[in-house]
Amino acid sequence: MPVEDRNEPLEVRGARELVDTSDARPHTDSPQKQSADLEPGPRAPQLDQQDIYDGELDVRHGHEEDLNQAELEVEDDEVDVVDDVEDVCHGPHPEGHRYEVGVSSFGQGGLIEYRPGDLPIIIGVPHGGLLEPEELAEDQGELARDTGSLEAALIVYQQLKELTGHTPHMIINHVKRNRLNLNRVDARPNMDHPIAINAYNEFHAYVDEAKRWVSATCGRGHYFDFHTNGHVERWVEVGVGLSRAQLARSDEELERAQLRRRSFYRALASDPKVSHAELIRGPMSLGGLLEREGVRVVPSPKHPSPGVGGYFSGGYNSKLHGSRYGGTIDSSQLEIHYSYIRSKGMTRQRFSHTLSVVIARFVQHHYGFELLDEAE
Ligand SMILES: [Zn+2]
Repeated sequence: MPVEDRNEPLEVRGARELVDTSDARPHTDSPQKQSADLEPGPRAPQLDQQDIYDGELDVRHGHEEDLNQAELEVEDDEVDVVDDVEDVCHGPHPEGHRYEVGVSSFGQGGLIEYRPGDLPIIIGVPHGGLLEPEELAEDQGELARDTGSLEAALIVYQQLKELTGHTPHMIINHVKRNRLNLNRVDARPNMDHPIAINAYNEFHAYVDEAKRWVSATCGRGHYFDFHTNGHVERWVEVGVGLSRAQLARSDEELERAQLRRRSFYRALASDPKVSHAELIRGPMSLGGLLEREGVRVVPSPKHPSPGVGGYFSGGYNSKLHGSRYGGTIDSSQLEIHYSYIRSKGMTRQRFSHTLSVVIARFVQHHYGFELLDEAE
């Protein structure tokens, strides 16, 4: 696909099916079809409700005033910028990858955007869009959007560029969530409409393209799906594919092969020398690194499991695009409490800056890419 081909339709793929087996990829690319011929792509009735839907039906956005700055504990985080970093990813580019780093491609009608990168980091933003295309009716039962998630992702994208001298991949759904929910497998809203079906396929095709590049060029990497939560615990929830009951188990139990296979970190955890519990809630986990910066987060050393608190274990995107079903790209669903990112200005700016440093540290530590010029 040529760069900057706005309004050119992406090649549309067939419907996906997601089957909860630890041994198989959930989907194979079906023969390509025109969007008009497609059935609604998403359906996966065999998965348990708790973690196949993104579980955000009970999320409560925006019932409180924005917090003032004093409520945010995040400290300024000074990290030296790497200005003479070598190329992070050394492998050959995959065949047919015709994207230019940092130059956006758009799907049909500009609803879905792909910013190609050169880092082993992929950011997905399914629920932060602002567009209201009139062809797609508004679903009154859906939240309008995950407020702040796109804004935070854009800051993280920019900060990662400045911190590492390289560019993450980013895929954005620009349509409001109540017209196009791209973290679902069922048929609403609008998933009987060709525009919605096409946009759905474009989003996942772009993520797959980013994964293809990372797999070929970097060997392995991590997909981060950005969301906003409104749970009363006011914490960031890192979804890694384990239920609250599974997270309630001991560290020893998390090391078992069965839970390693279920994890969205399955590729990383396939190395028996790697502690699965450490990956998920140790000091160098995403939760551990955020907690060190003063963020309230689960799972983490301080909050190893959510208990009865609000928690999303990971939705469709993080499940589909992580390593549970194979491959070398792991994934995390980042459900950021809105108090960190909803308000404009320094709160969102500072949290997003912290998150970008944490993502870089996490990827550097666990995958061995030299991203930051700092001691851990
Ligand atoms: Zn969401």
